[in-house]
Amino acid sequence: MFAHWFKMNERCTTCGLASERVEGHFVGAVGFNTIFSFGVLLIVLLLGTWAMFPDLNVPLLLGICFAAAALTPLLFWPFSQSLWQAFDLGWRPAQESELDPRYTATLATATRRAPAAP
Ligand SMILES: [Zn+2]
Repeated sequence: MFAHWFKMNERCTTCGLASERVEGHFVGAVGFNTIFSFGVLLIVLLLGTWAMFPDLNVPLLLGICFAAAALTPLLFWPFSQSLWQAFDLGWRPAQESELDPRYTATLATATRRAPAAP
């Protein structure tokens, strides 16, 4: 799914589904990443305050919060992309025309071989 940490392949190497299914598709991943990063920042801020209370070391707490705010979006980026793709597939299931014909042929064969449900 990914060429490297920050770059998603244009198409899935297994099924051929485009990673950018519609223009601006990545905005949803940015939204997930923002929500998650602010959540982590809030947790770090609350835990840091709780751990240092009542003698708050504000510069240290700000430094830790800054590090969390800077690193979390970078570390969570591929996960936010995968999550957004999964949500999008839940809302708009992939059409056969979006998939590699070799993959859909494999799926059809697998479906025919599956035992009937009781
Ligand atoms: Zn795929």
